[in-house]
Amino acid sequence: MELWYTEQHTDDVRFSIKVESQLYSGQSDFQRIDVFESKEFGKFFTLDGLMMVTEKDEFIYHDMIVHVPMATNPDIKKVLVIGAGDGGTVRELTRYETIEQIDMVEIDKQVVDISLEFFPLTSSKLNDPRVNLFYEDGLKFVRNKVNEYDLIIVDSTDPFGPGEGLFTKEFYGNCFKALNETGILVNQHESPYYSSYAASMQRAHKRITEFFPMCSVYQAHIPTYPSGHWLFGFASKKFNPLTDLDAARWNALGLKTKYYNTDLHTGCFALPNYVKDLLDQAHE
Ligand code: SAM
Repeated sequence: MELWYTEQHTDDVRFSIKVESQLYSGQSDFQRIDVFESKEFGKFFTLDGLMMVTEKDEFIYHDMIVHVPMATNPDIKKVLVIGAGDGGTVRELTRYETIEQIDMVEIDKQVVDISLEFFPLTSSKLNDPRVNLFYEDGLKFVRNKVNEYDLIIVDSTDPFGPGEGLFTKEFYGNCFKALNETGILVNQHESPYYSSYAASMQRAHKRITEFFPMCSVYQAHIPTYPSGHWLFGFASKKFNPLTDLDAARWNALGLKTKYYNTDLHTGCFALPNYVKDLLDQAHE
């Protein structure tokens, strides 16, 4: 008998991975959590039936959500990470010795517990002494922060269920307030390809541009996310990710990365015309 994990990417499109075994299934206070073992992608976990992390392709997402802002401003010292319960974003951040403090706010402790148990490679740095873990709603956490962070990374689920609040105007406005005068906000920005994801991406983009003077979008190829074409939002009060990149400075750090490099940094902001059009036409 064959076992397959199938995810509904649209009403008419499904994506399947052959599964060797299911390692865990449980319901937390916030969402259903499933962990699977597969030959092609190694272990992977889903929340409410949506792919979060696979051992094989997580490096793409985590490289791109961390190294793009860090190479744009290597002086970042204090970081707020929202969501990111698997630990992959924190793992990449801790590679920078210059970072002094990482506050991570994950709503669901059970995701962190599952990651520590089944995904030692992504969760390996959650116990770094610079990391403070808060089990709270990120939307509420940022409400009373003012001028505190150099970088906020929103590594959230999609804009429904517990992640919904992390795509609202209120949240982006509070992120703006929580960042200092050179602050950068990076968020997972959904996919431009299928219309329901594209609509979320457009709404998020429109809302972020209402607060930040510098807003752009960059892309990566992530095989297990809907359509494989994924976007990240880059917004800042000061930094332009293209003109402020000091490639020589980042390369001198000697960090070994499997996806990110400084040529790709420049290239990933070059968007296909249909994506540019979607961003130009973005509305509430
Ligand atoms: N890389 C993943 C992706 O885009 O599919 C996301 C990774 S991470 C597992 C997303 C995390 O965001 C989840 O663990 C979820 O519990 C957390 N999350 C969702 N809503 C949240 C909220 N309002 N505050 C804090 N964390 C939240």
